[in-house]
Amino acid sequence: MSAVPAEPLDELQSYAEEVAGCTRCRLAQGRTQVVFGAGDRHADLMFVGEAPGFHEDKQGLPFVGQAGKLLDKLLAGIGMSRQDVWVANVLKCRPPGNRDPQPDEIEACESHLFRQIELIEPMIVATLGNFATKLLSGRPLGITRVHGQEQETTIGSRSVLLYPLYHPAAALYTPAMLKVLESDFARLPELLGRAPEPVAPPEPELTLVQAKPAEQLGLF
Ligand code: URA
Repeated sequence: MSAVPAEPLDELQSYAEEVAGCTRCRLAQGRTQVVFGAGDRHADLMFVGEAPGFHEDKQGLPFVGQAGKLLDKLLAGIGMSRQDVWVANVLKCRPPGNRDPQPDEIEACESHLFRQIELIEPMIVATLGNFATKLLSGRPLGITRVHGQEQETTIGSRSVLLYPLYHPAAALYTPAMLKVLESDFARLPELLGRAPEPVAPPEPELTLVQAKPAEQLGLF
């Protein structure tokens, strides 16, 4: 046996392998596989969604459907990609028919998320939607009240900045919500202590030529 302590990478990997066989709740029976999480295991920024859906359950990866495409787009807007962040969910298994997570399922699964946060050590945990926000803030306030309001919080042994955001799936069909999500997202570089991505220069404007009064043009 090696005297060198296990690299955190190995710890996350072996934790993922352990969780792959989880049978703590009824969702184990209907799943194709556990969706543990994915991305950069050293990420400063972690996103926590609700639960795997149909495509996530099939592929074993979080946010691979339409909501995931929007997440990719939002990340691109701040000069980041999935390779720069870690993405996970409150529940690691798909609820049948994509129904809401139930309290006993959240309770059974929450320690998997807390352990993941401990191992990844993010600076910011951005919660997507109500379920992740309520679980990680420990408060009952809904996402409409708290989105875009960062708060220092302790998760397990770690102090992190919790940053609640609207869930991309909700924003997909509600343009007003998408606008709010985009502007909350735009604050992430600042919260990460990074310079925001330079905004693309505006298209050159057409020079307005002052029209001369009609009589000066000799029209009358
Ligand atoms: N896909 C996920 O992985 N999580 C969600 O919350 C929604 C879609």
